[in-house]
Amino acid sequence: MNNIMRITGDGLLQDSHRNIRFIASPNCDARPAGTAITLLVIHNISLPPGEFGGDGVTELFTNQLRVETHPYYATISGLKVSSHFFIRRDGEIIQFVSCNQRAWHAGLSCWQGKTRCNDFSIGIELEGSDHTPFTDAQYTALAALTQCLCTDYPISDITGHLHIAPDRKTDPGPCFNWQTYAELVGNHMVVMKHADPPYMTVRRVNV
Ligand SMILES: [Zn+2]
Repeated sequence: MNNIMRITGDGLLQDSHRNIRFIASPNCDARPAGTAITLLVIHNISLPPGEFGGDGVTELFTNQLRVETHPYYATISGLKVSSHFFIRRDGEIIQFVSCNQRAWHAGLSCWQGKTRCNDFSIGIELEGSDHTPFTDAQYTALAALTQCLCTDYPISDITGHLHIAPDRKTDPGPCFNWQTYAELVGNHMVVMKHADPPYMTVRRVNV
């Protein structure tokens, strides 16, 4: 497979077909020493909620949210959060945190008995909401990014935020089509799990 994406030694995404914007978020820190990256977490976010195309998410992840621009922003002002990647409605991928660093996307969380999912995961935010279908461009970009990350890291599972924080979170929501995602990533790489809630396991094909 000739993936056009790769992760540099600095943990940054490179794409031979287009420029990937890196906007450094201060909301990150070091992963615990020796921690392998084994989990991919899919989210959705839009700011203001349900409105797409603006700068709200970038402002939030860089602690520059202009509270006066929307009433909702007062409720999240001061939140220190981030994710490694953000995929816009047109499929543009923006990176906010090096994969080598721990982004603050999962919060209180647990996956298969392991808590503190930020320690061992990579977070991908899709610009969207729980009740709006995601775009084809987003699925295409997400699948390519997933292939890249699963090649470069020992990721074993792919799941949604709601699956690691079921009492607090609902994203990526019922409009996220796990089957479409799995098919685009490819059966050679992922196996769809039809447990409730759904998630994927990653086939290790590397020698
Ligand atoms: Zn989330």
